[in-house]
Amino acid sequence: MINIPERIKHAALDNKDVKHPRAEIHLIKDQCKGCGYCIEYCPKKVLEESEEINARGVRPPKIVHEDQCILCHFCTVVCPDFAIFVVEKQEEEKCKT
Ligand code: SF4
Ligand code: SF4
Repeated sequence: MINIPERIKHAALDNKDVKHPRAEIHLIKDQCKGCGYCIEYCPKKVLEESEEINARGVRPPKIVHEDQCILCHFCTVVCPDFAIFVVEKQEEEKCKT
């Protein structure tokens, strides 16, 4: 078993002050072959198998915790059919009046 040093078990002291990027996950449902790799390997368990059937006759993932996504892009890397990608959500510009 690996012993994780105490100093990296905790979030950084300024964690609350830092602005964390928010993710926007894009899934091309009909391109998915339902292998489930993205669901299995997402470290934050952002995805789950959905109930719906796509054009290829399989169940694509569904996005259940987009707010938990850490933009690691692991889902994109493991997807054999280029059916999922993640971008940083752009903040809406505030109206200038
Ligand atoms: S980018 Fe990382 S955390 Fe976000 S859905 Fe993909 S694998 Fe999960
Ligand atoms: S890794 Fe790609 S093909 Fe496999 S379930 Fe996820 S989106 Fe579909």
